[in-house]
Amino acid sequence: MKDAKKLYIQTFGCQMNVRDSERIVGIMQRLNYEPAGKPSRADLILINTCSIRQKVEHKTYSALGRFKRLKARKPELVLGLGGCVAQQEGEALLERFPYLDLVIGTHQIHRLPELIRTVRERKERIAATTLLNGSPERFRGHTLQIPNPSPRWTSGQDYQIPGNGNRVKALVTVMEGCDNYCSYCIVPYVRGREISRSSDDILREITDLAQCGVREVTLIGQNVNSYRGNGSGTSFPDLLERINGITGLFRIRFTTTHPRDLSEELIGSFGRREKLCEHIHLPLQSGSDSVLRQMNRGYSREDYLHKVEQLRRASSGIAISTDILVGFPGEREEDFNDTLDLLKRVRFDAIFSFKYSHRPPASASRLSEDVPEEEKGRRLGLIQDVQRQITLEKNRELIGNKEEVLVEGPSRRDPEWLTGRTRSNRVVNFPGDKDLIGQLVPVEITKAYQNSLKAEIL
Ligand code: SF4
Repeated sequence: MKDAKKLYIQTFGCQMNVRDSERIVGIMQRLNYEPAGKPSRADLILINTCSIRQKVEHKTYSALGRFKRLKARKPELVLGLGGCVAQQEGEALLERFPYLDLVIGTHQIHRLPELIRTVRERKERIAATTLLNGSPERFRGHTLQIPNPSPRWTSGQDYQIPGNGNRVKALVTVMEGCDNYCSYCIVPYVRGREISRSSDDILREITDLAQCGVREVTLIGQNVNSYRGNGSGTSFPDLLERINGITGLFRIRFTTTHPRDLSEELIGSFGRREKLCEHIHLPLQSGSDSVLRQMNRGYSREDYLHKVEQLRRASSGIAISTDILVGFPGEREEDFNDTLDLLKRVRFDAIFSFKYSHRPPASASRLSEDVPEEEKGRRLGLIQDVQRQITLEKNRELIGNKEEVLVEGPSRRDPEWLTGRTRSNRVVNFPGDKDLIGQLVPVEITKAYQNSLKAEIL
């Protein structure tokens, strides 16, 4: 048997990218690739990029600069760039970075073996960025082979597959792409039009995962509540119902959603499907009707508040997290105050907040960027201060509560402690035996911090 080659992946961005990196690992393992552990040991380095914000895109280019030095020392090293920046820039990247061998678009991951072979054997540099809109081919290679036993796959950025057969949680793609064209967002241009994966494929993948010890799945897609079952007519709530029946699986989560497409049927699934955890990520973006219109979001602040009310009626303890974008072109002080007001009215459990930056060809990039950078920073700081206080207060309200935690592994700070999440997606640390990993454990919350809770097993 030939010596295994070594792969290093650096992943930026969202869970879709993390999942794509997992797919790449699954594909490359079949070609006898092992984790490199660090870039200097790699035969193949792939950077899985994100272009949703300028700041993340810049990180991609700094990573490329670092790997350029390695390539100069080791010319046989294959250096590839995938993800949204690859899709957006395509061949131009090969011109701009003469040491880059491969550019792989978001719909071309399944072609990696053939592309890498061509780069190695024919010494060609390739940009493969065709979008396979409407083609189920996009989902080829989505089912991850769980290695058992195998070393740990890690990358420089928050990405790891604990491939020891004891994986507790997994991401499962249910749909890809987006048809919404929010005016600030580049996703429809780099991820293509919406396509849903077949429900039978999804069911099969999750059943396999559960048999391998996975206890929680997060169903992912750019807008999971527009899932259409790839011609079968299966709605997202139907899909949840079917997944709920899988033996061995304890918990279901999903992300991300669009408030406009959040149907009453889906809201009703909370509380009706016992494995569906009481947490939803419902991106708000702005609390101002005028900004929401400019963003082409398709709902008003009243619509959003109504959905929140319906969710809380269906499941009183449901945790709601959101995304907020400040400094959108034309955002006036009063618009920003509407966002602050909505934040205080909803009292989200968590938020992800960002400063707006132009993302051509998204349509808002043709507007004048009239909120100065300094002002965007001030607004972001205010939003984050308000939310920090709310999060802490909400965490403190949980002290004394009994919660069910799915144990994910040893705590990073103290290996004698365990870490896991409540159904509402809060991180909980508590002393306990490693035999509990992968199990649901009842705990009592004893302390609350900004980002986590402390507990004792009951
Ligand atoms: S719903 Fe809007 S923000 Fe979300 S991926 Fe689609 S276009 Fe982007």
